[in-house]
Amino acid sequence: MAESADVLIAGAGLAGLTAARDLTAAGHSVLVLEARDRVGGRVVNQDIGDGKIVEMGGQWAGPTQDRLYDLAASLEIPTFPTYDTGRKVLHFNGKRGTYTGAIPRINPLVLADIGRAQARLESLARRVPLHAPWTAPDAERLDGQTFETWARRNTASSSARMLLALGAEAVFGAEPGDLSMLHVLFYSHSGGSFQQLIDVTGGAQQDRFVGGSALVAQRLAASLGDIIRLTAPVSRIEVAGGKVTATTAAGQFEGSQIIVTAPPHLAGRIDYAPALPAWRDQLTQRAPMGSVIKTQVIYDEPFWRQDGLCGQATGDGAGSRVVFDNSPPDGSPGILLAFVEGDEARRLGRESLDVRRQAVIDSLVRYFGPRAAAAQDYLELDWQREKWSGGCYGTLFGANVWTRYGHALRTPVGPIHWAGTETSTVWAGYMDGAIRSGERVAAEVVTQLTHPGLAAR
Ligand SMILES: Cc1cc2nc3c(=O)[nH]c(=O)nc-3n(C[C@H](O)[C@H](O)[C@H](O)COP(=O)(O)OP(=O)(O)OC[C@H]3O[C@@H](n4cnc5c(N)ncnc54)[C@H](O)[C@@H]3O)c2cc1C
Repeated sequence: MAESADVLIAGAGLAGLTAARDLTAAGHSVLVLEARDRVGGRVVNQDIGDGKIVEMGGQWAGPTQDRLYDLAASLEIPTFPTYDTGRKVLHFNGKRGTYTGAIPRINPLVLADIGRAQARLESLARRVPLHAPWTAPDAERLDGQTFETWARRNTASSSARMLLALGAEAVFGAEPGDLSMLHVLFYSHSGGSFQQLIDVTGGAQQDRFVGGSALVAQRLAASLGDIIRLTAPVSRIEVAGGKVTATTAAGQFEGSQIIVTAPPHLAGRIDYAPALPAWRDQLTQRAPMGSVIKTQVIYDEPFWRQDGLCGQATGDGAGSRVVFDNSPPDGSPGILLAFVEGDEARRLGRESLDVRRQAVIDSLVRYFGPRAAAAQDYLELDWQREKWSGGCYGTLFGANVWTRYGHALRTPVGPIHWAGTETSTVWAGYMDGAIRSGERVAAEVVTQLTHPGLAAR
């Protein structure tokens, strides 16, 4: 006989677990069906021995991510600041330079050019309503162009465009041509501003979790009791006779409502009976994930600190274009987190592990000198190959998706509800947004369960 609960939840990432917590607290029975053999989804720790870990998925928290900080505090997981002391490295147009603060030492004309473009972007972003980006002033025009075409019109130099591209790769794991300009504006506003998305201190990379972000998911899951079924990918959702039946590799489950927290493209691969409305299906056909390989390069010590460097580097060459000091709180061993993103992730993702490792280490040598060649270990996770994520950091929208299909992102279809960081208005794409989406959807489902007439749309 099928196991049953009031509410079924597909996905035990931060969104699904948060929704499960709130629904249980409201007195409803819940079953969480998770495709992987672990909880956490896009947050995952990897053991590096000696009681230490690195995070291969989401890891940082920053100001205004209150829901994430509150949840971690409630689970007794402290934070510590990302190492941010010393000079940063920029390797650009074949030259290496170092700098402090937010402004690199490059040609002042290029700096002025990029400064103007970014100021314009920030001011446009503030005008995008987070609940309905398609109602922004000029939404049609902004959504009909990509970040790349916008940058061509709003910058004078190819160097400024390259710096904007580095920003797009770092924030979205994608190239400017992949992104609707309206999406870039929505995303920036959702996290405060574009600057806040790229900053360390004062921005989205400010803090880390002692023991790793995956502890948040693991402890939350442990607090829920025996309601999570692992290795249970939902392949079919059938709505009939006032109930919902989810078919998984671990059997069938029944409920009166279901919440799908998988990112939209994976939600779109589930077989729905009856079929979803065309507007929802067409949205999920247009919701790709970013392209990212996250690598961690381990050294006996953080040697760059002795050179007065903070370990942050960026550049326009091959391999990694965005690097951070990711050493444990006690600074041992030394770890450089080197992201491979966008086109470079697409290119290196087709190469062998040896080729990828060499490309990443070569880029670290460019940034930090020959000592960077003496790595003790190299770890990587190619998120493009993760069946139950399909890429990261999150979903990105190309041209004409927000304006044509934005309304379909959160609108429930009968007893089927949508959550996941992609559906959040605040910090969409981030762990904080995932938690907010779980809270929002739990409230939506409680309303539906207690006042079915009120919630019907
Ligand atoms: C490399 C990387 C770096 C990142 N860096 C940061 C960062 O520093 N800070 C930050 O805030 N965010 C970061 N993020 C983003 C952050 O991790 C995500 O926004 C957040 O974890 C998403 O949570 P979620 O619950 O919405 O989705 P997910 O974590 O994707 O959870 C969805 C769950 O659904 C499961 N699933 C999928 N399909 C099915 C199915 N058919 N049936 C059942 N289960 C299914 C998946 O296995 C998964 O467990 C990063 C992500 C990655 C990958």
